[in-house]
Amino acid sequence: MSEKFDVIVIGAGPGGYVAAIRAAQLGLKTACVEKWVNEKGATVLGGTCLNVGCVPSKALLESTHKFHDTQHKNAVHGISAENVTMDVKQMVARKDKIVGNLTTGITGLFKANGVTTLAGMGKLLSGKKVEVTAADGSVSVYDAENVILASGSLPVNIPPAPLTEGLILDNEGALNIDETPGTLGVIGAGVIGLEMGSVWARLGTKVTVLEALDSFLAVADKDVAKEGAKLLKKQGLDIKLGSMVSGTEIVDGKVKVFYKDAKGEQEITVDKLIVAVGRRPQTQGLLADDSGVKLDERGFIEVDIQCKTAAAGVYAIGDSVRGPMLAHKASEEGVMVADIIAGHHAQMNYDVIPSIIYTHPEMAWVGKTEQELKEQGVKIKVGKFPFAASGRAMASNETDGFVKIIADEETDRVLGVHMVGAIASELISQGAIAMEFCSTAEDLQLMCFAHPTVSEAVHEAALAVDGHAIHIANRKKR
Ligand code: FAD
Ligand code: NAD
Repeated sequence: MSEKFDVIVIGAGPGGYVAAIRAAQLGLKTACVEKWVNEKGATVLGGTCLNVGCVPSKALLESTHKFHDTQHKNAVHGISAENVTMDVKQMVARKDKIVGNLTTGITGLFKANGVTTLAGMGKLLSGKKVEVTAADGSVSVYDAENVILASGSLPVNIPPAPLTEGLILDNEGALNIDETPGTLGVIGAGVIGLEMGSVWARLGTKVTVLEALDSFLAVADKDVAKEGAKLLKKQGLDIKLGSMVSGTEIVDGKVKVFYKDAKGEQEITVDKLIVAVGRRPQTQGLLADDSGVKLDERGFIEVDIQCKTAAAGVYAIGDSVRGPMLAHKASEEGVMVADIIAGHHAQMNYDVIPSIIYTHPEMAWVGKTEQELKEQGVKIKVGKFPFAASGRAMASNETDGFVKIIADEETDRVLGVHMVGAIASELISQGAIAMEFCSTAEDLQLMCFAHPTVSEAVHEAALAVDGHAIHIANRKKR
């Protein structure tokens, strides 16, 4: 008889490993199947996020930010440094060390919580049976009371730019470039394109970003997109909108990129090209024909608001289901599903999921954009406060950007918080907390924020919603 678990999770990314730990904490006998192996053939937990996503990209962004500041921004403090150099191999090795520490950390957490790791490729069979094919080809089948599919996503490849070792790279290859390229092309001005473009632009690479759409960051609030475009351009990122790549050619170890824009056929030649045009759900080999789980027309696993699939007792979470492809969204769905399986009431608030782009300054938002609310005919009040008017931001020499708060004109409830700023990734949680607690702009206005902090910009933006910000001229006409 095959071993039976209360919960089997397939996939150990931030969706799956968090779900497994939570389920085990709740007293459920839990296993997690993972197929990812390192160069030594050992199973690696953590998924895209820890191995080739959130964490390694932020490690590179931090290193290059420090380099850039030392070279260009610290003189204003009276700090001078000559002949500043960057050892790119050391930077990449540091990134790899962080990844190694974090992924082994998850192995430790599984052990500490009693989660069984099943190494290999997981497949859901009918009747909540899970088949695991190990690297040596041996097959085991396990029974589960509940199954959580957390198989994540893979980069989208496009026919005009087929991946080519060392030259045309996806996000994984992009994280392992170990020499500063003279020129870099990026297809897609989305999150990965802007973050990876920033990494190399800071090291002196001439970066050209080709974006198919005519508008920049269409998902962001228009003010954030406008400010972001202006600041990134100032940093040397050449973002070409309305540019559709039609082909590539390798010539003398370089990449010729052909694209079409409003003026006609164009081409550029770059040392390396990163393809960052989005990600797609990873479901190949995951489901037996009779598993009972359905995919939608775009290949995502179909789920309801509680992440239940069409098969009873089978749930799916994270990048392989609808919603934003974000690690924290995947993890929160994992927690919700584990709680539901354990018999608790649980739900996730899909209206309050923060988004962050880790450029410098960072762009971050939560809730609805001004354009969305206007389209929906919602009457709104908007308050905006620039970091240029913040004493602490001046002291830090980080005065670019602003905080924008949108509130309902009638109820005063906060509907969206949007910002561009050096530490927007940290500040945005204040917006998320406010929205989660159904705060009004007045609630934020009446709070005492510590001085001098960059957070005061959130307070001032809330005050500006009613024309009461103290440190800018914003009196509303009566
Ligand atoms: P994944 O992390 O993709 O994990 C899925 C796991 O399932 C993988 O380990 C895979 O090997 C395994 N698997 C799949 N199928 C099977 C199978 N059949 N059997 C066994 N195992 C299987 N998000 C953020 O929130 N913040 C960021 O800063 C951020 N930065 C990013 C930067 C980059 C370069 C990239 C590529 C992504 C970034 N993301 C970021 C997105 C984030 O990585 C994903 O949203 C997140 O990893 C999704 O988690 P997941 O658990 O759903 O899937
Ligand atoms: P994305 O969806 O953010 O951006 C892709 C961009 O490529 C879009 O602007 C799109 O219009 C453009 N595009 C698509 N096809 C094109 C083509 N043929 N030619 C030119 N442009 C084209 O996708 P991404 O940057 O690849 O990131 C993938 C996912 O990973 C995102 O959903 C994101 O949520 C997640 N991620 C998050 C973070 C973060 O939270 N900071 C960082 C990196 C990635």
